[in-house]
Amino acid sequence: MPGILIVAEHMDGALRDITGEMIGAAAELKDPLGGPLVVAVIGDDNESLAGAANLAGVDEVLSIAAPSAHFDAALYEEAVCTLAEERTPGAILIAHSAAGMAFGAAVAARLGSGFASDVFDIQIESGDIIVTRGSYGGKVNMELGFPGKSCVTLMLRGATFQAPEGAGSATITALTPDFSALAGQSAHLEYQPAPPADVDIAKAEFIISVGRAVQDDKNIPIFAGLAERLGATFGCSRPVADSGWLPKAHQVGQSGTIASSCKLYIALGISGAVQHLAGMKHVETIIAVNTDANAPMFNVAHYGATVDIFELAEALEKEFN
Ligand SMILES: Cc1cc2nc3c(=O)[nH]c(=O)nc-3n(C[C@H](O)[C@H](O)[C@H](O)COP(=O)(O)OP(=O)(O)OC[C@H]3O[C@@H](n4cnc5c(N)ncnc54)[C@H](O)[C@@H]3O)c2cc1C
Repeated sequence: MPGILIVAEHMDGALRDITGEMIGAAAELKDPLGGPLVVAVIGDDNESLAGAANLAGVDEVLSIAAPSAHFDAALYEEAVCTLAEERTPGAILIAHSAAGMAFGAAVAARLGSGFASDVFDIQIESGDIIVTRGSYGGKVNMELGFPGKSCVTLMLRGATFQAPEGAGSATITALTPDFSALAGQSAHLEYQPAPPADVDIAKAEFIISVGRAVQDDKNIPIFAGLAERLGATFGCSRPVADSGWLPKAHQVGQSGTIASSCKLYIALGISGAVQHLAGMKHVETIIAVNTDANAPMFNVAHYGATVDIFELAEALEKEFN
């Protein structure tokens, strides 16, 4: 049985959520590909990472010793290709992340495997793997099959698949490959974290977001104040972040953050472009406020009002006082 190889992603000594999500997604592939489900952890001090990767469903964790804890695209490419040649998996799962993008396509090209990035759905049809990804800037969803390919490399979108709960009973195997041929090709200079965010859209349960309808940054405090009074996290659409009216951390959507824990989402003056919907259309309860009754946001909203957002804010303000 060819099995599945997952490349764990980690930073600052902890696995990133996407690793568990890839393990969850692999459950879809176990039927056509069978076992084993193998997770490769690449780093210089893998003991706790390998333990954390031992989630339900995992058969083996490969702890691969690297000269440094820092991500190195060439080293990951080499390690994954070597493993794939030895173990001949039917699928290789890599995060669709900044790091994953630096080596995922190169792995697929070297192995001559099938390839799809930004995958957000995996189905099996008549024993074949069919994946779905966005295309044309997220405007359409595209289903891809891989006829004639004995291996597919799939880069999976984060906050999309469910990680399994509970620990597994995987064997942990330590490997010390010789990476000396790569020495000196690249050097890690420093890690620059993104500026600290004042909101965590991914973890927020109640979000009030504003769109281009706010018109100007001077109007932001009106809605920020409203969100604060109602105990909501303040989000926005991309034009609001692109205009610099709010930091990027507030942006909901495909190129922003997915509101993965949100239960109530209030969209104020947001049209409902597919890229925004990608971050919130799954939310349990969506309330849309928009003066245009034909705004696509109303197609996903459970409640809606064709009301001017400024009039709404003023009316609520009066209620509070
Ligand atoms: C690759 C790519 C990635 C993208 N990623 C994202 C993303 O992550 N997040 C995101 O949001 N967008 C993203 N976009 C942009 C997206 O396509 C839309 O352009 C954007 O979502 C539109 O934002 P909006 O709804 O605020 O603005 P608009 O589309 O301009 O909508 C404004 C809405 O406000 C309504 N309105 C105006 N005045 C009022 C008022 N006074 N009261 C009530 N309603 C009013 C209008 O009727 C309109 O529906 C992305 C685009 C691309 C190509």
